[in-house]
Amino acid sequence: MIHLSKRSDVTCVEGKLDNGQIVYIFLTDGMLIDTGCPHLESDLISFYNEHDFDSVALTHHHEDHTGTAAWIQEHKKVPLLIHRKGIDICKQPAQYPRYRQRAWGIRKEFSPLPMGETIQSRNHTWEVIYTPGHAEDHVALFHQETGRLFSGDIYLSTRTKVILDFESIPIIMNSLKTLLCYDFGPMYCSHAGYFEDGKKVLKQKLDYLENLSGEILNLYRQGYTVNEIDQVLFPKKPLLVSISQGEFDSLHIVTSIIKSQVMC
Ligand SMILES: [Zn+2]
Repeated sequence: MIHLSKRSDVTCVEGKLDNGQIVYIFLTDGMLIDTGCPHLESDLISFYNEHDFDSVALTHHHEDHTGTAAWIQEHKKVPLLIHRKGIDICKQPAQYPRYRQRAWGIRKEFSPLPMGETIQSRNHTWEVIYTPGHAEDHVALFHQETGRLFSGDIYLSTRTKVILDFESIPIIMNSLKTLLCYDFGPMYCSHAGYFEDGKKVLKQKLDYLENLSGEILNLYRQGYTVNEIDQVLFPKKPLLVSISQGEFDSLHIVTSIIKSQVMC
């Protein structure tokens, strides 16, 4: 099921899955930002057929962002752009765990083109800001004149409780610091939706992660093990941890922070 709303001249397409998960795609100035997940394909095809666009910018390769890209490539013949580090992954058949295949569907392969440092939509130039940590090909898109930021999956929530095993909190923190150097206001997050003052919420997230890192390193220096630190700071494990068989876990927050410190 999808629901459309407008924020200035940005069309926000909110896709809601049967399991309650939400994923957004956005359309502005003839440019589509992300393509949702495979399970939303029939709803999104109707949207694509009723709306005009001539380019697609992908914030990263994950299946809930590239899920209908193959359909667009085949039927709309418009360029699909992604950071160069995502290109080979998108050309391959989907390789991600079964629980994600069930949750989002199975992404078909497609052939995107590499993004440059900027992207041109019909009337606007967008700055491509490389923001790894959640995915190694993750970018955010910034439009200076309107102060708009499409933040992909770099925000998601302020108080991060679990991350994927390939994510890194220190790298995410660096990406947040990079973004906070830009003069943006309205922010469009791929799962949490629209924020009028995006800078405020990104700052809150960075503050939370900085405090959390401090606590983790304190306990580590006191001799706590990684598992003990995890139990102290995250005593309740959300269901997602068992559903994902540990691909999502608070433990990865702890290990990524300690690892970066040990490597310094
Ligand atoms: Zn993602």
